[in-house]
Amino acid sequence: MGMVRTSLDVATIRKDFPILNREVNGRPLVYLDNAATSQTPQQVIDVIVDYYHNYNANIHRGVHALSQEATDAYEEARQKIQKHFNIAKADEVIFTSGTTHAINLVANGFSSFLKTGDEILVSAMEHHSNIVPWQMLAERTGAVLKVIPMNQNGELVMEQFHELLSEKTQLVFCNHISNALGTINPIKEIIDASHEVGAAVLIDGAQAAPHIKADMQALDVDFYTVSAHKLCGPTGVGMLYGKEEWLKKLPPYQGGGEMIAEVTFEKTTYADLPHKFEAGTPNIAGGIAFGAALDYLNQIGLEAIAQYEEELLKYATKKLLDIEGLKIYGTAEKKTSVISFNIKGIHPYDIGTILDKLGIAVRTGHHCAQPIMDFYQIPGTVRASFSFYNTKEEVDTLVEGVKRARNMLL
Ligand SMILES: *Cc1c(COP(=O)(O)O)cnc(C)c1O
Repeated sequence: MGMVRTSLDVATIRKDFPILNREVNGRPLVYLDNAATSQTPQQVIDVIVDYYHNYNANIHRGVHALSQEATDAYEEARQKIQKHFNIAKADEVIFTSGTTHAINLVANGFSSFLKTGDEILVSAMEHHSNIVPWQMLAERTGAVLKVIPMNQNGELVMEQFHELLSEKTQLVFCNHISNALGTINPIKEIIDASHEVGAAVLIDGAQAAPHIKADMQALDVDFYTVSAHKLCGPTGVGMLYGKEEWLKKLPPYQGGGEMIAEVTFEKTTYADLPHKFEAGTPNIAGGIAFGAALDYLNQIGLEAIAQYEEELLKYATKKLLDIEGLKIYGTAEKKTSVISFNIKGIHPYDIGTILDKLGIAVRTGHHCAQPIMDFYQIPGTVRASFSFYNTKEEVDTLVEGVKRARNMLL
């Protein structure tokens, strides 16, 4: 066993992120919108630049050297992803443009498996990208969408989940971690119980991947989705993990180049996995950089990251709750470093605007999770989400900023 690190060398880590040196409105940037997208370290930027400087070429087709180098780097990235998530076969890693694309791919494929009266279950705390594709699927097939409710703390009511499960349930989808509340959901319990009634499970891991190293084989999940831009990688690339047996059964999502075995005007046969789901020229530099982002995180260590972020979460929660009238939404026992809050009598947008003037980037609004806001009967929240490159001093700056906003607005 290696040495257990209790804290990160954040000062050194911050030097990897050029953007953290910039100023906004004359103040040092305090970037607390990590749940929307994370910042990119120089090590990952270098990989993208190196690709365009030295071996930009289309993959899987050319016989020439550049194409071979690009193909090798792209497939090596697939293997890094495979290893990171402990996936049995590299063919079970499908490159997508991100979580939204991955979920739509699965939802589209399930059109051919569902019939009227079948049931699909969604949790009450999903991102819109894990709601809308399933609503569209339900409309197409006549399947019924049912909702696993949550409680005031922002935790799923698991008794009701078990009651909702039945022989009619075909598919269950839930996020691993809520982007709006930070709740870590009991996905292993969800997966095992769903399998007992024969239902497949898709877990939206977009928010979890930067904090938790999920093990696909141990989870025994059917589908799991990740967006690289939430874990220090670039935008426009992500992963769909699917069990091979499912990916073989699912029809292709998009038709085009790369996904075919043979094309005639009479009939086209599809390529083997993973290419069946990877039509067209992919985000090659992005895919390679996705692999580099995982290397970067692993070199720091996800456990050390999670531990440090937990410290930041506790520190920030305590200091924010000292502010009069401030209420935090999402107080689950198990949560990550996301704090959604409001101050009584003030619209979240107004707080966000004042914080921006102070150089502090937070998100305001419904965070693509409107049903959660409806549940709490609020228009939205201010959301501060912390990453391993944030500091306690930045938390202090946030707290001072919120106090200032409160004094100005009340
Ligand atoms: C960000 C996020 C998404 C959407 O990811 P995209 O990269 O925009 O496709 C979906 N679910 C959760 C939980 C997220 O945090």
